[in-house]
Amino acid sequence: MGTMTTTPLPPTATTTGATARIAQIVRETEAEGPGRRYAVWFQGCPLRCPGCCNPEFLKFGGGTETTAAEIVADFRKAEVEGLSLLGGEPFAHADAGVVLARAAWEQGCSVMIYSGYTLAELRANPDPAVQELLGLTDVLVDGPYEREQPETKRRWVGSRNQQVHLFTEFYADDDPRWTLPNTLEIRLHDGELSINGFPARAASSLWKGWRRKPTRASLALPLVSDRSPS
Ligand code: SF4
Repeated sequence: MGTMTTTPLPPTATTTGATARIAQIVRETEAEGPGRRYAVWFQGCPLRCPGCCNPEFLKFGGGTETTAAEIVADFRKAEVEGLSLLGGEPFAHADAGVVLARAAWEQGCSVMIYSGYTLAELRANPDPAVQELLGLTDVLVDGPYEREQPETKRRWVGSRNQQVHLFTEFYADDDPRWTLPNTLEIRLHDGELSINGFPARAASSLWKGWRRKPTRASLALPLVSDRSPS
């Protein structure tokens, strides 16, 4: 595994004081990318993939407005291998994403992002913050979720159309962790139950009648924000 601290950081976009609406944060998860990770779900996505597993994260007005600096302060206390940004659509919150990703680089942590946009679409986006966030990404899982093509072989990928792009040397493409089965993570921490990861379709029925809505990624009660139902 390489380290990003040897690579100069790209110039920053204007992100001072960046804020974002946050759906939830899980401080430690092993179900959203390699190793132990700090995972941030942004609130708001402009896409509408049929069968989206996080429908409550689509509305831009939901979640809790949070400063990126506040999240960075919390992230710095976590002992993790990396930062995972999910959504919602992380690149729709690129200003804040840049602040978080830069903090991860400064900590020697990896940055993994799940986007509903394809890499080509992201590269064509004129927003400098989008380009900066892309430049700070070690691992990108790109493309819309397609419920007719559920992924059953690759880990941390929702549907077969999505690609895993390794942009840096942080992870090798022959890292055995990429080929292990997907993980469904259930945690009970300080009286709060959280479920996240990439369960088989059948597993989602476990919580369909148990909690209010099925989600692809997590039902964790927010640690930094108060998630409100959409
Ligand atoms: S699957 Fe992802 S990209 Fe697609 S609508 Fe849902 S949150 Fe947005």
